[in-house]
Amino acid sequence: MEITTPQTLKKLFESEAFELEYTYDGPLGAVYTHEGTTLQLWAPTAQAVSVRLYAAGDGGFVQQELPMQQGRRGVWSLYLPGERHGQYYTYLVTVNGSTVETADPYAKAAGLNGVRSMIVDLPSTNPRGWEKDCRPNIPEHKRVVWEASVRDFSADPSSGVRLSWRGKYLAFTQENTTLAFDGVHPTCLAYLKRLGVTYVQLMPFYDFGSVDESKNLAGQYNWGYDPINYNLPEGSYSTDPRRGEVRINEVKQMIAALHSAGIGVVMDVVYNHMYRWENVFNNCVPYYYFRQNPDGTPSNGSGCGNEVATERSMVRRYVIDSLVYWAQEYHLDGFRFDLMGLYDADTMNAARAALDKLPGGREILMYGEPWQGGASTLKKTAADKMHLRCLSNRIGVFCDATRDAIKGSCFEGRDPGYVNGYTEKSWDIGSSVAAWCRSDTLLPKSPNQIVSYVSAHDNFTLWDKLVLTHTPVDEKPDYDTMHPEVLAQNRMAAGIYLTCKGMPFMQAGEEFGRSKWGEENSYKSHISINRMEWARADRFHSLVDYYRGLIGLRAAFPRLGDMSRESAEAIEFFCTERPLVGWQLAAKPEDNTPWQALAVYYNPENKPHEVKLPAGKWKLLCDGVSSSLWRGADLLCSGRVSLQPVSVTIFGRMD
Ligand code: CA
Repeated sequence: MEITTPQTLKKLFESEAFELEYTYDGPLGAVYTHEGTTLQLWAPTAQAVSVRLYAAGDGGFVQQELPMQQGRRGVWSLYLPGERHGQYYTYLVTVNGSTVETADPYAKAAGLNGVRSMIVDLPSTNPRGWEKDCRPNIPEHKRVVWEASVRDFSADPSSGVRLSWRGKYLAFTQENTTLAFDGVHPTCLAYLKRLGVTYVQLMPFYDFGSVDESKNLAGQYNWGYDPINYNLPEGSYSTDPRRGEVRINEVKQMIAALHSAGIGVVMDVVYNHMYRWENVFNNCVPYYYFRQNPDGTPSNGSGCGNEVATERSMVRRYVIDSLVYWAQEYHLDGFRFDLMGLYDADTMNAARAALDKLPGGREILMYGEPWQGGASTLKKTAADKMHLRCLSNRIGVFCDATRDAIKGSCFEGRDPGYVNGYTEKSWDIGSSVAAWCRSDTLLPKSPNQIVSYVSAHDNFTLWDKLVLTHTPVDEKPDYDTMHPEVLAQNRMAAGIYLTCKGMPFMQAGEEFGRSKWGEENSYKSHISINRMEWARADRFHSLVDYYRGLIGLRAAFPRLGDMSRESAEAIEFFCTERPLVGWQLAAKPEDNTPWQALAVYYNPENKPHEVKLPAGKWKLLCDGVSSSLWRGADLLCSGRVSLQPVSVTIFGRMD
């Protein structure tokens, strides 16, 4: 192909002729058998491609350099006879007369820092019993997602995890861990089992670029929203990043351990941008994988310097292949899409359809951030919150409207929400309860499209946000004292979103008042800011119990987590005096639940309120202090009842 500029490349890649001539659906990457391995690379603009073979993932010399043969549709290939498991390789790709050495974009294993790809015999990476591992069966109404980072989960010296596994994948496999080995207070996996969450969403654990795997990790930290290899795990979370098979095996062990505990695993995926402009995509087919401004320069809808062009056919294929690969090879239970608003809706729906075709694939969760990180050049319909109608009703979105209505803006630290002083938000709270199916702002097809939450890894932790709005402007916030008013607000925030339609989601540690001491964006802050402080989980144990009770209560009344539109429409709001919000929801006859209906009241004011229950005999299930009354004796009430200040109160009808 003749020498081209970014602008002419843009024209070329957006042309129908290019799509028709070069869209390819055959195998790519390394196709391994014991007898030999075929390497295939899609590089239609390359003049020459060759393969370099290495004995190790880092260091040493080139063993061999072999030219690849150009075939149809821009695919270059080479057959390597013999057993090649553990063979490291790179490509030398020549475009426009200049040659770069690159890892394989389709690599499934790699050495240190992902610089060299590795041919892998995948079955040999399976831990014992892996063939029996399967996705836990989690009914829709029991879905509760807990978002953690592999490193944060166990890095705390008090985590009770053995030293060599702290901050690693394998920490998830250690059973019966306790706080500083005290034998009493459960931590990590043991803690999760008790809490009752049903999914753990892990922040990026594909291979990312911002942590140097060759160096001591003590002084390094990054969340990892900076992909370099999409189809293999991050090395710094493994016990040996130098050997490509180790990280694969350890991720599988982690997933198997969570599955054994009945917990599904959701992977945070970041196909919307890459770490740097110099990356495996650009090394192989410069500019093809990225959206371009009219002058050909990379557009920056991610705020990270580039944005992936999901609408181009070989990019769409790449994203879908990658998701299907992770789901099949690693038995993943769901995907969380970073900046999903940068994906075109067609790609998201095609990904949904591809996952649906897998055994049990319809149960694989898909949800994401329905916004962008900057000005995008995407011209097709975006998978954002304005276009929920264009997305499958099994693709969900983080609902910032619910989040901000409950506790205030995530950007304006001192801006309060319903539970912490801005009680005029009661209308939005009602909308949140019905997962916005009964308002005209978001237009979801059903509650299934809504993720109800108040905190995630971005922005202030819930505790820090509540402390901030509680602190007079001229005083320094104190994040470590257990202020009773803040605790009440925290319980109330949890009580609201855990009684909302939509899928509940929480940042790990939200349930124990996790603090980053006012740090808004800790993506590269020290581990001491980011790690979960397990002693705090003990200190805030009553708050943990409040979450635990609510999660159990939600699970015990299936209609609360029923994701159908009809169930959102069945919510009957009471005519309560403002700013109270009250509603009831009847059980379905077939539901396995002790209560015929729930009546739920939110009182955001610092004083008690009286309300009149609907006719019937009601049991108090949850008040502002305890969410486990439903487990106790049936003390029935009727008529007028009192609501505690700043509280969620829940009754179950017994007749
Ligand atoms: Ca890495």
